[in-house]
Amino acid sequence: MKDSAPGTVYLSDYAPFGWLIESVHLEFDLDPDATRVKSRIVFSPNLNSPEQEFFLHGENLKLISARIDGTAISPRITREGLTCPVPDGEFLFEAEVEINPAANTALEGLYLSNGMFCTQCEAEGFRKITFYPDRPDVMAVFTVAINGSAGVLLSNGNPGPRGAGHALWHDPWPKPSYLFALVAGDLVAHSDRFTTASGRRVDLNIWVRPGGDEDKCAFAMGALKRAMQWDEQVYGREYDLDVFNIVAVDDFNMGAMENKGLNVFNSAAVLASPETSTDANFERIEAIIAHEYFHNWTGNRITCRDWFQLCLKEGLTVFRDAQFTANMRSAPVKRIRDVIDLRARQFPEDNGPLAHPVRPDHFQKINNFYTATVYEKGAEVIGMLKRLVGDKAYAEALELYFARFDGQAITIEDWLSVFEDVTRRELCQFLRWYTQAGTPRVSVKEEYDSGTYTLTFTQSTPPSAASPVQRPQIISIAVGLLGANGDEVVPTQMLELTKDSQSFTFEGLSGRPVPSILRDFSAPVILEHEISDAERAFLLAHDTDPFNRWEAGQALARETLCYMATSDARPNPDYLEGLRTVLRDDSLDPAYRALMLGLPGESEIALALSAHGIIPDPEAIHAARERLLDALAEALAGDLPALLDANAVRERYSPDAAQSGRRALFTAALALWSRRDGGARAASEYAAADNMTLQLGALGALLAVGRGEAETAAFYEQWRHERLVIDKWFAIQISHAAPDAAVAKTRALVQHPDFNWKNPNRFRAVLGALAGNHGGFHSRDGRGYALFADWLLTLDPVNPQTAARMCTAFQSWRHYDGGRQMLIGAQLDRIATAGGRSKDMAEMIARIRAARPQ
Ligand SMILES: [Zn+2]
Repeated sequence: MKDSAPGTVYLSDYAPFGWLIESVHLEFDLDPDATRVKSRIVFSPNLNSPEQEFFLHGENLKLISARIDGTAISPRITREGLTCPVPDGEFLFEAEVEINPAANTALEGLYLSNGMFCTQCEAEGFRKITFYPDRPDVMAVFTVAINGSAGVLLSNGNPGPRGAGHALWHDPWPKPSYLFALVAGDLVAHSDRFTTASGRRVDLNIWVRPGGDEDKCAFAMGALKRAMQWDEQVYGREYDLDVFNIVAVDDFNMGAMENKGLNVFNSAAVLASPETSTDANFERIEAIIAHEYFHNWTGNRITCRDWFQLCLKEGLTVFRDAQFTANMRSAPVKRIRDVIDLRARQFPEDNGPLAHPVRPDHFQKINNFYTATVYEKGAEVIGMLKRLVGDKAYAEALELYFARFDGQAITIEDWLSVFEDVTRRELCQFLRWYTQAGTPRVSVKEEYDSGTYTLTFTQSTPPSAASPVQRPQIISIAVGLLGANGDEVVPTQMLELTKDSQSFTFEGLSGRPVPSILRDFSAPVILEHEISDAERAFLLAHDTDPFNRWEAGQALARETLCYMATSDARPNPDYLEGLRTVLRDDSLDPAYRALMLGLPGESEIALALSAHGIIPDPEAIHAARERLLDALAEALAGDLPALLDANAVRERYSPDAAQSGRRALFTAALALWSRRDGGARAASEYAAADNMTLQLGALGALLAVGRGEAETAAFYEQWRHERLVIDKWFAIQISHAAPDAAVAKTRALVQHPDFNWKNPNRFRAVLGALAGNHGGFHSRDGRGYALFADWLLTLDPVNPQTAARMCTAFQSWRHYDGGRQMLIGAQLDRIATAGGRSKDMAEMIARIRAARPQ
């Protein structure tokens, strides 16, 4: 189908670029309002491409001059780029353009952040810097000269000669333009060194603004060295330049960017200290540092042929960073957190109007496809592939991948080919994980007859606009069987479901077993298994698989919340009793027990009700969750004081897994205990806290019970000069506000002098927190929707990328009642018909509006 909006790009239309690039020389004369960029590019014909017009991308560029082989030319310039006649063979193209970094608020291309020049080119930002074939399959060796008065001058690759006001960089590894980077400004480095397995000495630098941030780099530096070593040990990948630079930037649309040899990071994803960062911040920083570093091989050395293949680099790199975190910390805890995140962000996407395959086949703005589906489901798919072929074949396939495709821009089919070659198994059915949208439902039926036990699985995926016809997937299902006393009678086996319906038989059992299905969440599916509460409670008490043990508790909590939100049902006593047993088990990791105490979120309950054909009522869901929390606090009242004492950390602060696990259990227990003592203990913990994890945990506990006004004011005074802490201050007030107060709180905070809405971190801290306050966002009078839409419309002309991504707050709108659908629909109409919307926003709103009532 090609009848959608003009400007849509299709995977099926792919054709290679008509020319190859031998080398690129760029020279920047930096100036905030009028930066000059001179380019010298040697093109030669690409004999593998169809005949085509010579076209270079370019947007918002003022062309000063252009030459081919030294002769001035007058190319035709459009809004998208440049065309001109070119010679038949090899030729030298030269251009000089002028750009205005100070006016660039979209934060794509070259822009200014607090007076610092920096770039963001992925996906299509390089075309805002100079005329170029700005597509990932054009790989070239770059040499970059920078002239400017601004302190430190950085680009990709290895440093060449430099002096006052100029620097030269040469990157010997061919790369696509989206990996280009330039940073210039008043910066200081936190430096270290790493020696690779083969003895290459690499200078490591984390660059920050002078005056305050220098002492917040040590943790990220340690994480970088751990990541470099891990990639050598586990994947056999060494770093390949003399220097690895990281720069912290305050105004950044994403978490971080893996530019070759010059990673650019959102300050929030690199700067950390115990006083200003939570344990969760530390863990996230370690993961993002590793993620961007791992891209050096999975993304940079081997890159994507076109942007439809984005999951080639992102799915694999997310999978690798998850393996790294599991190795550095606790594997079960990491797995559970990833599944919580998948269910909160990817499942709603996969089951709503924004559903798309892991490898989409069309888009208008690729920026709108940096999604949980491409990243997180993309990683799940690789985890499943590894389970299906086994660890040994996975390792062999990756070796072959790096050997065969180094220096190339490739596709998902290329990726799967190395697994086919190593295992001699055809993977065309597996490819459906990349081409079909939607979350498969797997239902299971059990049968037991004199020692023989049979599990019958049936799979189906609801059709959607993105995937009208769904065919059966290969699904890896890890199953173990437990005996009546909790012993494992059949250890974990990997079953392969390939058909719509399939049975698997276990012989020689001495009694009817209790099955533990989808262990370690072995596939990104929704498991529909009707078992009794007693059996779930049994699994909660006995399952030897830590993921499924947690999952049994979650299933009980989810079901009891669904009942409580639709009736005056009391909390399930089996759940409360089971949880108490787990909590008392000191042999269990505190981080794991803290996760056990976590209840499913309100939006997850809304989607669960909707899946059962019940229209969710956000107020009733919030009230039910509050009642369950009160019941938990009551049921555990006898245990909480001892739990608090046992898990109070008295040692010097460390963000390691063991200490942060104890703090996680401590703050979870503190939040429950505040429901018993009215927040007295939390207030004293707040006063005594010497680290941000406890300070924020205590403040959250106070706000959740309607207290904490004085502490909130004091927090601001204490941290008003720490921008990343003030982001937290904005967010926590809104996320912990009662549903009927969240909109008023947001209205008050957008008036605050520190609400700098042009900074993406600050915008997300406030408006993202509103969207995350389920009851407040969905307040019956529609004020939450209206306020949110106002701000999307305000941000869009300034920063379309961030505005468009935040539209996802509306994606589940068809699950709600007619009144709310009318209110949301009116806001979507208002945005759709507003003048001057970006292409990014227009595409997102059109896709969300297309949703049919459910
Ligand atoms: Zn990435």
